[in-house]
Amino acid sequence: MLEIKIEKTTNPKPIPDKDNPLVFGTIFTDHMFEMDYTDGKGWHDPRIVPYHNLELEPSAMVFHYGQEMFEGLKAYKTEDGRILLFRPDKNIERANHSNRRLMIPEIPEDIFMEAIKQVVKIDEAWIPTKEGTSLYIRPFVIATDPFLGVRPSYTYKFMIILSPVGAYYPEGLDPVKIWIEDEYVRAVRGGIGEAKTGGNYVASMASQMKAHEEGYSQVLWLDGVERKYIEEVGAMNIFFKINGTVVTPMLNGSILSGVTRRTCIELCKSWGVPVEERKVSVDELEEAARTGALEEVWGSGTAAVISPVGHLRYEDDVFQIGDGGIGELSQKLYDTVTGIQLGKIEDKFGWTVEV
Ligand SMILES: *Cc1c(COP(=O)(O)O)cnc(C)c1O
Repeated sequence: MLEIKIEKTTNPKPIPDKDNPLVFGTIFTDHMFEMDYTDGKGWHDPRIVPYHNLELEPSAMVFHYGQEMFEGLKAYKTEDGRILLFRPDKNIERANHSNRRLMIPEIPEDIFMEAIKQVVKIDEAWIPTKEGTSLYIRPFVIATDPFLGVRPSYTYKFMIILSPVGAYYPEGLDPVKIWIEDEYVRAVRGGIGEAKTGGNYVASMASQMKAHEEGYSQVLWLDGVERKYIEEVGAMNIFFKINGTVVTPMLNGSILSGVTRRTCIELCKSWGVPVEERKVSVDELEEAARTGALEEVWGSGTAAVISPVGHLRYEDDVFQIGDGGIGELSQKLYDTVTGIQLGKIEDKFGWTVEV
């Protein structure tokens, strides 16, 4: 494996005050990881360096054709001072799945894992410890060829930056209101919906703004062809508890395969709760909401972990889920996942990796 060179900052920044709330994604630590790719040479020069601005030609391909991949995971500090990552192997696997779809060269898994561990270790003092906080890890790759033609780039830069974060939703586990989008679509089968890449997010912004103006915090996407089947929320997968069974849209090529989604499915199954991964139509949901069979709805993602949904709006109908509060299973999933992440609950599944 390539050796990671380390250059420490001579000018450390102040670490945020423990008692000030952290706004998601606004503060970055002292160091970052960087590695370059050159056609013919492969990935080379892995290094940890002070967090710095980039110098790229304005013609760099990422600016014009969006060839980029990103990931998101978190590091937690346990009460006894250990640093835990949650299922980082799944993020690395998914990164290379995205890379293949986006024609970005794959990153060797061993160097990827080592890079995460070492950069987190160097900035360990930045891991916040207050309830609901963590160190968000953002690995990403950009295409850097200075070229205005359409083809995969010959050169890339892989970076990992770190950001101490508080609760994703300042209101905490309060149920969110969700807008089922019937005009725009995020992705279609055969497109790039199952890759974690910026292009999927820019496709979602117009709808997101519309939903915000109407007082909704997130958009729930329908399939891009029939606009009939539920796909996922902005940066979360979606789950429904209908008549005691947990139902989530099956992975169909346009949905992002969430690590938290996988975790929810595996936990529910381990508790004996039936889980179905299948097509879920908006009609089925409306019917279930009307008859009272729709017991719980929640979103799952690294940022918020579990996000209970209190309201769904589709066209002119608004339906409230349960009593509008947090469902029992949503709460149990949240407590279990965060408990394992923080080392408070025994990790029977071997999901955590110590740094
Ligand atoms: C990252 C992401 C998710 C959630 O994935 P996790 O691995 O659970 O964080 C869901 N949907 C989209 C579109 C995403 O980008």
